[in-house]
Parts: sequence; C-alpha cells; structure tokens
Amino acid sequence: MSKSELIYEKKTVYELASAETVKAAFDYAQGYKKYLDTSKTEREAVKESIAMAEKFGFCEYKLGDEIKVGDRLYYNNRGRNLFLFTVGSESINEGIRLTVAHIDAPRIDLKQCPLYDDGGMAFFKTHYYGGIRKYQWVATPLALHGVIATADGRLIDVCIGEDENDPLFYINDLLPHLGQEQSKLPLSEGIKGEQLNILVGSMPDSEENSIKLNVLKLLNEKYGIKEDDLLSAELCAVPAAKARDIGFDRSLIGSYGHDDRVCAYPILTALLDSLDSKHTSMCILADKEETGSDGPGGMQSELILDIINELARCLGGNPAVIRANSKCLSADVSAAFDPNFSEVFEKRNTPLLSCGAVFTKFTGSRGKSGTNDASAEYIGWLRSVLAKDNVIWQSGELGKVDCGGGGTVAKYISKHNIDTIDLGVPVISMHAPYEVVSKVDVYETYRACVAFYRY
Ligand code: MN
Ligand code: MN
Repeated sequence: MSKSELIYEKKTVYELASAETVKAAFDYAQGYKKYLDTSKTEREAVKESIAMAEKFGFCEYKLGDEIKVGDRLYYNNRGRNLFLFTVGSESINEGIRLTVAHIDAPRIDLKQCPLYDDGGMAFFKTHYYGGIRKYQWVATPLALHGVIATADGRLIDVCIGEDENDPLFYINDLLPHLGQEQSKLPLSEGIKGEQLNILVGSMPDSEENSIKLNVLKLLNEKYGIKEDDLLSAELCAVPAAKARDIGFDRSLIGSYGHDDRVCAYPILTALLDSLDSKHTSMCILADKEETGSDGPGGMQSELILDIINELARCLGGNPAVIRANSKCLSADVSAAFDPNFSEVFEKRNTPLLSCGAVFTKFTGSRGKSGTNDASAEYIGWLRSVLAKDNVIWQSGELGKVDCGGGGTVAKYISKHNIDTIDLGVPVISMHAPYEVVSKVDVYETYRACVAFYRY
C-alpha cells in the first residue's frame, strides 16, 4: 500500500473536488442566502419551508390522516416546528431515514410589558433568547419580527426593518469616553441583560406630550392594537443585515442565524430532491433547541413518537421495530478552527473550514457528559454511504477537552432507540449576530444528506 493510502490526511474540498462541484456549491449558496433572508425566525422558516415543499409536491398532513406509499407530506406543528416525510416503497419496519435541524436562533425577545419611555426616548424591555454574548448586540442595526395574537382572534405578522425603506431598531452602548469603569469588567459583565433595551422612538404625541403614547398610537394605526395586545405577542429583535458573500473570492457566506439554518436548508432541500428513494425519509425542523429543546415543538416533545406510531398504524408496521431500524442525522453546526483563537481548539480533531461536512461522534462536556455517543458500527455504515457519492467530510469535536462544550438534539432522538450522529457545517463566530460559513461545506452537507436518504 502506498503512503497516501495508509495515512489519513484531512484535505479541503478545493483539493479533492472537481471545479464543477465547487461551481455547484456556489450556485447552491444562492438559494441558501435567500432562505436565510426569508427565515430569520422559526415561524418564518416554517412558512418558507412549506412554500418550498409545496413546489415539490408535498401536501399538508394532519394527525389521524391516512398515509400511503408514495405520499410526500408535511405536518405543521403550531407554525414553529415542521415535519416533512416521504413514504418509500420498502416496508416501514425497515425504519426511517431521519434528519433533524433546528430553526430557532439566538436573538433578543421582547418582554410581555415591553414599552416605556425615559430620558427622551422610548424603549422595549427584552429578555434575550439562547446563548448570546450580550456585548455583541449593542450598537448594531436590528429588525423586529414576530406575531401579535389579539383577544379577538387575529394573528398579526410583524416584520419591520427588512425592507430598505423600513425604520430599524437599536440597543444603545456606552461611549468610550465614559466607559472606563465598564471597560475593566469581564466581557460577560460589560453589558447586562436589563441593559438590552431596544430604542423605538423619541417623538412625543401632540396632545399628551408622551413618547410612549405616540409609539402606541403608531402601533394602533399600523396594526390596530392596544398596549395590552403585547401581552399575547411573540416579538423579537434580530440583526437587520442580509446574508452576503464574504471575501474577495466570495467563498464564504456571512449571515445572522447560520446556526442552524445552515443545516435546516441542506436536510430540507436534500429531502425535496430525493424522488427515487425506497426508504421512508423524514426531515424535522425543530424549535427551542437554543433553550433546551422543551415545549411542544422542541425535540423533547413526544410528537415524533406520535408520527412514527401513525406511520406504523397506516402502513402496517410495528413502532418499536421501526425505531430500532431507523437512522438519524442530528444536523447542527460545529465550531470551525479559528487561528485568531487557536488556544481553545485542538487542531487534529477540530473541524477545519472548507474540509466538508462535519460528523461529530460525541458532544457534551467534562468527560462526554450529556452526550449521545454514536456507535462505531453506525459511523462505519455512514462512511460506506458517503463514499458512494464521494461526499467530502471530516470528523470534528467542539474545542479542547474541558474548555467548555455544548449539546445538540442528538440525545433526545437516540433515547427512542434510534441510531443517531451529529452532522453539520463548521461555523466561524457561532451565536454572533453575524456568523460565517464556507459555501463548499454547506454543499457537502447537502450531498451527505442526499446520500443518507438514498442508500
Ligand atoms: Mn445549533
Ligand atoms: Mn446554537
């Protein structure tokens, strides 16, 4: 055997793939950027994903409906969580090819009594959502997204700041001239949670000379709501910036919320493109991963079992057998090696940018605590599947041992007796308001999902 056969060496997609594959990756990125801009919240991601699926012949499914071979269906769970599945020709007892990604992302949620004025400005009080670094969210343009449910039964969509003629929103920061004491604080304490107040106006109304009242009058004009309607609203501030190419060579994509739409888009588009698979395949776009996967749309919900049970009932299968034979890709991002912060990475086992899709055997922290640890057999099987389509992939671990850590939904799926492994895209500046990924990594993740559904 030659040296190059004996030694495993990580190589980039640019070294391994053809020029056509790189071109295809750049083309694929165009669709992904559009998805990013139209899907900044889980509700918007569900809407956009349904619109895409319907173009590929998917129809709405309701719990209790009959299901038959050849069906292409989606289940919209409360507008924030989406199940899509295709029913293959082989017995359902052969199991399901399952992929899961989350469509929620770190952001700044509004409190239920948000509006006040002080010092000549009106603000919204907030409670941040997910693991943010608070100092990154001040002094940056923000857009307001969400819904307001009124007591008379209306559900009002809100989206302000995405059109270039829209106003934007903003969180104030301290000027350096007066920031000497603040600058001495640890990074995590420089900006406090209760300082993340969103600037929403500064002009009083003409009758009462009240800035708060003026904002309420404008909200009433635009949406027909009163202040108490905000009690039943889900509104959040997200970065207003659009997804854009990064770098002279345009090889990277900058955007808010790559985590985890950079996995949601590949698992979704691969399912839409998998027309000829004999397997029953399912793609889940989950909510609430960033806060622990709770709630009816999070992966700790038993809805996944309800749907598997319904597939078994309609197709003559045994739910326990289906789960035992199912295979899952828990699709979530990984941290790419960053030479600017090399001290937290162990280079041999950290995902490298542009080296393809990342398979992570285990996550967790402090001695692999809280992890689904994918089996050697399952990874061996995956290697054979990925090799069939020459998918370029790498193994990866999140940073150095005992440097921190993190979890994914993998453990909430594998607890149902389903073989599961983490697959994803390496990200630079994960959880920042603007994150960066490599186009070729996104495309190899898509190709990995295509192979997974097919073989
Ligand atoms: Mn994630
Ligand atoms: Mn995350």
